[in-house]
Amino acid sequence: MENCFYCARDKRLLAIMEPVCRLDWSRVYFLRNQRHRGRCVVALHRHVRELYEMEPEERNGFFRETAAVAHAIACLYKPDKINYAVYGDLVSHYHVHIVPKYKNGPDWGGPFSDGGEERLLTPEDLRGEIRQLQDKLQRILGT
Ligand SMILES: [Zn+2]
Repeated sequence: MENCFYCARDKRLLAIMEPVCRLDWSRVYFLRNQRHRGRCVVALHRHVRELYEMEPEERNGFFRETAAVAHAIACLYKPDKINYAVYGDLVSHYHVHIVPKYKNGPDWGGPFSDGGEERLLTPEDLRGEIRQLQDKLQRILGT
């Protein structure tokens, strides 16, 4: 799909998120802005716009992987709740935002927002957190 940054995986995508890994049905990205500690995106390989456009096997595989990412985030960051968001108004490629929420953190008790102060990690910290997430995901998925 032309002009979709999840398909192109170009600098538009890399400006806001760092690749974590490629799974069977999806790719996992770690948001550069860690205002919500542990925030990730899971994007389906294939460009589909709507949930009902996925084949059953694809949908099951995608959500199995989405659950594994959420599980890994829960283990690593101990959020009080994880929010899952699917929008796609502007970038229609099917992807799920995994947004850990903390009782004393931003947006608790309401929908998360991209506003507020950015929390950017140093390149070293970013690499460390991604490595940790890769390891945890491997253990959870048994790969
Ligand atoms: Zn796409």
